[in-house]
Amino acid sequence: MQNRNMLIGGEAVPAASGSYFEVTAPATGSLLAQVPRAGATDVDHAVRAASIGFDAWYRLRPAEREAVLLRAAELVANEGQTRFLDTLIDESGSTITKARGEIAYTVDLLRTAAGEARRLYGETFPNDDPHRMSMVIREPLGVVGVVSPYNAPLSLLTKMCAFPLAAGNSLVIKPSEETPLTALAFGRLLLDAGVPSEAINVVTGYGSECGAELINHPAVRCIALTGSTNTGIAVGQAGLSRMRRMQLELGGKSALLVLKDADPKQAAKIAAQGIFTHSGQICMANSRIVVERDIYPSFIDALKAEAEGLYLGDLRDERTVYGPLINSRAVEKVLEHVREAVAAGAEILTGGEVLNGLVVKPTILLDPPRDSLAWREESFGPVASVVAVDDLEEAIAVANDSDYGLSAAVMTNNIQWGLHAARRIASGAVHIGMHTFQSNALAPIGGVGLSGMGRSGGHYSTEEFTEVKWISVDVGSLPR
Ligand code: NAD
Repeated sequence: MQNRNMLIGGEAVPAASGSYFEVTAPATGSLLAQVPRAGATDVDHAVRAASIGFDAWYRLRPAEREAVLLRAAELVANEGQTRFLDTLIDESGSTITKARGEIAYTVDLLRTAAGEARRLYGETFPNDDPHRMSMVIREPLGVVGVVSPYNAPLSLLTKMCAFPLAAGNSLVIKPSEETPLTALAFGRLLLDAGVPSEAINVVTGYGSECGAELINHPAVRCIALTGSTNTGIAVGQAGLSRMRRMQLELGGKSALLVLKDADPKQAAKIAAQGIFTHSGQICMANSRIVVERDIYPSFIDALKAEAEGLYLGDLRDERTVYGPLINSRAVEKVLEHVREAVAAGAEILTGGEVLNGLVVKPTILLDPPRDSLAWREESFGPVASVVAVDDLEEAIAVANDSDYGLSAAVMTNNIQWGLHAARRIASGAVHIGMHTFQSNALAPIGGVGLSGMGRSGGHYSTEEFTEVKWISVDVGSLPR
């Protein structure tokens, strides 16, 4: 076990207070490291550094920023296993397969973002006055405060950082207190790739302490938060008080529709992947499954078999499908959702209890009341609720019976039904023939309702992290 330091202005520094907090492994409970518990002074230090770093980074030509991000991608491709694999497994309880997937996606995100550095397109538009010419240019915002969650601590953080960097912004990162080690390693990698030392800063600590200081700092121009809806609302209100740009990627309660023409076994396999990957600690997990009555009996039989057939072993065993939840509070929340639903009349098809440590058994609830926590709120664990409906219209209505709207999916072979549902479901994304948990570095990821605001991925990200400016010129004196 070792003390680790933060990354401010290219230096590894402790907190001004000298305090540290512990980072433990959810799978074993063992102590991994102590990291600085940052407060107001440290955040101010980091934001001041980032303000200097902004000038250095934005002054680089787009091709130079592109080259730095491509170097970062190559570093992850070549050294990702040594720099990140063990940390991802130990710190976030990822399986080896999930950790490898995050590393591969990180390479993809960095390469995609690199190209965006050259594509900050502006435009011109016609002017009724023939002596005037109008153009619109895009400019970076300045210092972006990046507040990230624990569930995909490398790839989500990369998504939140690479695109604003491509657009010329500098960053202060506040990673989840559960997963600061991955973020520190990522910050170091960006420095190694050539990001100027002040342009990337990582402060470690608690949300209510250094997170709140960061989002309230007057020199922070934009906040990118990925986290729970409650945090998003608090951060959003604080951000609005200073009229900051905000990108808020929040919780979900995504619905998977299984229509009557679907193959029940195939649909059950996909549904299980969509809820049980990483113990359901995925914002887009299909925690609500809405099944047409015609195939409901065969579907739930197949889903039970899928759930009970999952291998849950050592995180470094490639057969292991998922591991522990992040901490005991997360386990308690999941069990509370199950208990409450069952007390109100839901049936447990399978699971509903702890397997060992922080590992919760794959859990399927049948027909929980529509006002239960399990149906309405994000459990963020390996729990899906299944309900039967009479037809497609009812399935769409049930899918829309949610305050969230991050992702949705439809299992059908009928493209008309699929597209009809896709256009009617209120959600940031709808996938046909797949589960709800889909990633693509170019896609506009984001939600409606309590799932947040703004989009990330490809040019959608760089638009979020730039401001447009109208410039007009009087060209009237020129000969025509
Ligand atoms: P969380 O809301 O507890 O914490 C997220 C981050 O916010 C952490 O870094 C935390 O320290 C910080 N924070 C908390 N309170 C704060 C405050 N008052 N001011 C500033 N910062 C504060 O979320 P989590 O438990 O780490 O992550 C899981 C949540 O993230 C789930 O709800 C999940 O759905 C969501 N998520 C959403 C997406 C998406 O793309 N929409 C992706 C991944 C995770």
